[in-house]
Amino acid sequence: AKAQGKNRLVVYADGMAATARRRAELQQDLQVAVEGEQLAVHYQPTVRLSDGRTTGFEALVRWHHPLHGLVSPAEFIPLAEESGAITAIGRWVLHEAVAQGAAWSRETGEPLRMAVNLSPRQMADTDVTAEVRAALEASGFPAEQLTLEVTEGVLVRDVDRVVEQLEELRSFGVRVAIDDFGTGFSGLSYLRRLPADIIKIDRSFISDLPAGRSAATLIASIVELARTLGLDVVAEGVETDEQREVLRAMECGSAQGYFFSRPEPAGRAGARLGLAAGT
Ligand code: C2E
Ligand code: CA
Ligand code: CA
Ligand code: CA
Repeated sequence: AKAQGKNRLVVYADGMAATARRRAELQQDLQVAVEGEQLAVHYQPTVRLSDGRTTGFEALVRWHHPLHGLVSPAEFIPLAEESGAITAIGRWVLHEAVAQGAAWSRETGEPLRMAVNLSPRQMADTDVTAEVRAALEASGFPAEQLTLEVTEGVLVRDVDRVVEQLEELRSFGVRVAIDDFGTGFSGLSYLRRLPADIIKIDRSFISDLPAGRSAATLIASIVELARTLGLDVVAEGVETDEQREVLRAMECGSAQGYFFSRPEPAGRAGARLGLAAGT
């Protein structure tokens, strides 16, 4: 038993070393990923629950690593945050996403929304306001159709600066969404500090529906809270028709999730809008 224990320890240590090696390797490769055209943006629709219409999309970055294949953003975004590569990646995603949003809006004649994730380091290290303005100008995408998604992680850094940046963005029409709402420590207290227009209820609450009584109660109170504060609500991670129905009955405004569509490359996402592929 002792020997076995020892073996396991060795295996574990090997596993740790392999993980560390992979992290270091990916971190290095990330530097060239942007210039090397290894990144792509996929788009997941946001659906209005009252009538089932697609009102916009969330842009989600993908990395096609030359050796490791598809690497999840859940793995590489934190690495990019650490190394600072996130600023180049984030800028690229922003430009890509608003250009796509502008094209789709033009082609459908509808004011489609586009949501882009902003990471804490990106907000700390760059002049996000200037970058957003530049991207909007370059694409002709209206500021009113852009949503920037932030998590409470942005408050770990300079709170005053973050609030100032978000206020400035909102002053020219951009909307701010609080992502992964309900997962952090602060919850309500950061709703008070962050200027926001939209709350995105974290997937962990939705996945407990419909059976999870406390999840349902929590979601209902978040929806009610949002109504009181005049905020819109988006439920994340809706995977079943039942979940959609429960949320609709609660008068939750919008939803995203595999039930409606997975995030897809621009061509396929555009086809859902009734547009010819390749646009
Ligand atoms: P997020 O912003 O909370 O995005 C939602 C994640 O949930 C996405 O994972 C999406 O594919 C996934 N998802 C959507 N619907 C469902 C569902 O019904 N079931 C399940 N199981 N999952 C669903 P993804 O694309 O792997 O992204 C993971 C995270 O990586 C994102 O979480 C976001 O924090 C980060 N991320 C992705 N793209 C970017 C980006 O361009 N910039 C920054 N800063 N972060 C990004
Ligand atoms: Ca998001
Ligand atoms: Ca989220
Ligand atoms: Ca998340």
